[in-house]
Amino acid sequence: MPAHAAAFSFDIEDWFHSEFVTGPARAAHPESVVERGTSRILDLLQRTGSRATFFLLGDVVREHPRLLRRIVDEGHEVACHGVDHRPLWGLDAGTFADQLDEFRRLVERVLGRFPVTGYRAPSFSLDRTTAWALDVLRDRGYAYDSSIFPARVKLYGVPDAPVHIYRPARDDLARHDPGGALVEFPVAVGAAGPLRLPVAGGFYLRALPFSLFQLVLAAIRRRRPVALYLHPRECAPEAVRLPLRGSASFITYAGLAGVPRKLERLLQRHRSRPMGEVLAAEGHLRAR
Ligand SMILES: [Zn+2]
Repeated sequence: MPAHAAAFSFDIEDWFHSEFVTGPARAAHPESVVERGTSRILDLLQRTGSRATFFLLGDVVREHPRLLRRIVDEGHEVACHGVDHRPLWGLDAGTFADQLDEFRRLVERVLGRFPVTGYRAPSFSLDRTTAWALDVLRDRGYAYDSSIFPARVKLYGVPDAPVHIYRPARDDLARHDPGGALVEFPVAVGAAGPLRLPVAGGFYLRALPFSLFQLVLAAIRRRRPVALYLHPRECAPEAVRLPLRGSASFITYAGLAGVPRKLERLLQRHRSRPMGEVLAAEGHLRAR
């Protein structure tokens, strides 16, 4: 049976944008990892003939404009991951709109245009308490979102949200509304009855046995397109390690050394296309 499309995505932020990093840790370790990690990702995509979506932070665009240029020059899709990695839980509609406007200015300053139609919230923080963000994204011209995590995990998640592409209703973002303003392309979560197993990328790629990860991913791809995510820091595993404790350390560092090799094997098996391109090819985007 032919498989559905695979769309790899990368949340382009530095190690100190993690929800577990506090100010003093950042001051003690000023080294940036975003250039090195992103360059490795781009090299790997080039080598394997894949294209992907890069959700960039405004802070990264400001500090590393060359990265944005290279991403675009090599045929990848640029999308928005906010400005400073503050989750939506700490914003309101006004401050979020300001962030989207600032992101737009930063991208236009580098590219002279704004080719962005996709958004992913820091820490998958789009849930029922922050559904107002859908209105702001619509008003700012965004066409799709990839922030609603359809499983409940420690930090985030909407456990009853669809695992497939759909249009979230404004009054309940787990419900499909054909008239909804944005398309949701959730990261890959396996579903068997009420059970949900995220294979979305990041921590799940690092912590799950790779054979199980690949089995679930292949099973999802037989039914629907898949989206996966990773971070630059996970592709530069020799970078700074912070003295985190307990679950914060596990979530941040479990299985880190194996990621570059796993990513290469995944890209060899699942040729990637940008998320916006997959959505357009599958007829999910409206003419604008
Ligand atoms: Zn992030």
